Amino acid sequence: MRFSGLRVLKEGLTGNRGWTAHWRDPEPKPAYDIVIIGGGGHGLATAYYLAREHGLRNIAVLEKGYLGGGNVGRNTTIVRANYGLPGNSEFYSHSLKLWEGLEQELNFNVMHSQRGVINLFHSDGQRDAYARRGNAMVNQGDDAILLDRDGVRRLAPYLDFDNGRFPVYGGLYHPRGGTARHDAVAWGYARGADQRGVDLIQNCEVTGIDIQNGKVTGVQTSRGAIRAGKVGIVVAGRSSQVAAMAGMRLPIESHVLQAFVTEGLKPVIDTVVTFGMGHFYISQSDKGGLVFGGDIDMYASYAARGNLPAVEHVMEAGMALMPMIGKARVLRSWGGIMDMSPDGSPVIDRTGIEGLYLNCGWCYGGFKAVPGSGHCFAHLLATGRPHAAAAQFRLDRFRTGAGIMDEEGTGAQHNLH
Ligand SMILES: Cc1cc2nc3c(=O)[nH]c(=O)nc-3n(C[C@H](O)[C@H](O)[C@H](O)COP(=O)(O)OP(=O)(O)OC[C@H]3O[C@@H](n4cnc5c(N)ncnc54)[C@H](O)[C@@H]3O)c2cc1C
Repeated sequence: MRFSGLRVLKEGLTGNRGWTAHWRDPEPKPAYDIVIIGGGGHGLATAYYLAREHGLRNIAVLEKGYLGGGNVGRNTTIVRANYGLPGNSEFYSHSLKLWEGLEQELNFNVMHSQRGVINLFHSDGQRDAYARRGNAMVNQGDDAILLDRDGVRRLAPYLDFDNGRFPVYGGLYHPRGGTARHDAVAWGYARGADQRGVDLIQNCEVTGIDIQNGKVTGVQTSRGAIRAGKVGIVVAGRSSQVAAMAGMRLPIESHVLQAFVTEGLKPVIDTVVTFGMGHFYISQSDKGGLVFGGDIDMYASYAARGNLPAVEHVMEAGMALMPMIGKARVLRSWGGIMDMSPDGSPVIDRTGIEGLYLNCGWCYGGFKAVPGSGHCFAHLLATGRPHAAAAQFRLDRFRTGAGIMDEEGTGAQHNLH
């Protein structure tokens, strides 16, 4: 089934009876060449690129809940390529280029909207840091414009420019950044993978990883044992728990991050804005809700709900930045479990166990990484070699100290990234 304007018209005129399911609901087979654990954005994108780029078909994605029920359907949907450090810079640039062709490629509307991202700065020192970051982005081939106060005012007149503590000095503008509809990204990749023969198996929790003589041989699941030539772990906030099934202790902590959405409002914010003096980021969804978030809850947890101090902190930051937000009523809030790494950068790597591969450590920036991560992880799984754009996402950097990518400059404390 392909989507097109003509098709929408035809279905609209004939009672919408021609639409079919987006993917099959297959029973797990006894064995696959590759098993992907985790049906989030990264797992589904990996399966899609394995099939599309490498012609591999005998693949299963095992998801303990439903496809897209994890962080990929819980995030604040910001897509950008504004990283400063080598390693991250080229990877997120690679990912943004994949985003730009994604809807045509998947024949699926993921509502990718390049509405621009403005990172505000509130001091001379912060301006210097953003100028440096902007130069790194431009050197990487991406776009960055350093805006002064009036430049920001033209794009976001509703901000409190003269806040006594945090006056707005300017902003780093990234026009190609923006948003996308989070769960549609999971659905689009799921549909594309299914069309190429990948088995997407929901309600199938992996409970054990089988290893013989240092080589992975399959997985134990709530729906029986499945043999596999290769296994990829792509379970975001559950990375440490699943890796422990293979006897591995990861340098990853799991923390809750909350998000909030207000009632639907008329269009008022037409870019993504981030506060430079508190952790706060906001955009407006196409339905009109203001979608925003802030810091993680600051203690390790597997609960997909948040605590009140973090709510208060986010609301305070929002009020400091744009007092008009006080008039909006918050409709919903929710949490997701983040896989926080010690340097804030991810891992796409093989493990010490033959055939077992790992994709984790996305902290709270992994949504924009979905296409790039899937593309690079598929390359690693299929060829055994890291993709050039993700070559620095090595697991052993936390053991050796070589190649640490501490984008925030906050040291080795997980909850500060
Ligand atoms: C509130 C919030 C806001 C965010 N905002 C942004 C943002 O604006 N921009 C951005 O780039 N990123 C953002 N992120 C981060 C981003 O959502 C995540 O980094 C990314 O989605 C993680 O990868 P994933 O999609 O594969 O994870 P998930 O969707 O969580 O996928 C992992 C899957 O693994 C499954 N699983 C776990 N254990 C098992 C098991 N034993 N067996 C089988 N399956 C298992 C889970 O059920 C889950 O579906 C945000 C996250 C949250 C929670």
